[in-house]
This record gives sequence, structure tokens and C-alpha cells, in this order.
Amino acid sequence: MSDCLFCNIIKGQIESFKVFEDDDAVAFLDINPAAPGHTLIVPKVHAVNLFDIDEISLRRLASTLKHVAQKVRTATKKDLMIIQNNGKDAGQVVDHLHFHIIPRTQGDGIGLMRGRIEITKEEMSEMVEKIKSAK
Ligand code: 5GP
Ligand code: ZN
Repeated sequence: MSDCLFCNIIKGQIESFKVFEDDDAVAFLDINPAAPGHTLIVPKVHAVNLFDIDEISLRRLASTLKHVAQKVRTATKKDLMIIQNNGKDAGQVVDHLHFHIIPRTQGDGIGLMRGRIEITKEEMSEMVEKIKSAK
């Protein structure tokens, strides 16, 4: 897509610091990193999010994600957080599927899961049923 930022990075029309490329995917450093080595991996095929990409491309991407993450892990000698946002409310800003590979350090404060909610066992059971019966 010509007006997609990451498609333009993939095509080389916008500068990026690429760390990996093959026929199906590109990985490059995040321009506004949460930590040194914060890397984004994107499929070359334009897909908005996890629900928009075909299964074969997704399987290939998962495999490449592991490969690139292993390289980031070795290079930074850090544990990694891997996240992927789907939709605006979930924090997705760029509408081209991407996984964040974020090297973590204890106490870095990057964590997503700080504000936990209270939940009862009944609510847990209701949610289990809802998710199990959903398409
Ligand atoms: P999202 O919030 O959509 O999950 O993540 C988008 C990410 O893309 C952000 O972490 C942001 O810093 C990064 N980003 C936005 N524009 C650019 C850009 O032009 N180049 C690179 N390398 N990263 C970008
Ligand atoms: Zn795109």
C-alpha cells in the first residue's frame, strides 16, 4: 500500500535501520525505542493486523520472528519482551502488522501489566465460557 509507512520502509522509500530481510519479512530498529535493540518485524505482504494476514504468511512470520529474536537476544544479551498490538485501543499506531522485540532489563519500568484488575471466580468462569464459545 503506497500510503502505508511500513510498506514504504519495506520498499526502501523511507530510511530505516534494517537488521534482517528475506523474501517474506523485514526487521528494522524502532525509531523511538523503548530500549536499545528495540526491533520491529513486519511481513512484506500488507496486512493490518493479526486477523488480516493469511495463515501461511503468518506461520512464516512466526518462524522468522523467532530467528530475529534469537539474534537480538544474542546481540543485546538481554531477556526479551515480544508484543504485538491489534487496533487503536490496544495501542496500535501503525496499521501494518508488526511485532515488537524489546530487550528488557530488571526495573526498566517498560512492563505493560502494571495495573491489574480485581476479578472474582464467577467472573473468571463466565469469561472462560465466553471465550470457549466464541468464533
Ligand atoms: P505500534 O504502537 O503501532 O504497535 O508501534 C509502532 C511503532 O513504530 C512505534 O514503536 C514507533 O516508534 C515505530 N515507528 C513509527 N514510525 C516509524 C518510522 O518511521 N520508522 C521506524 N523505524 N519506526 C517507526
Ligand atoms: Zn503496509
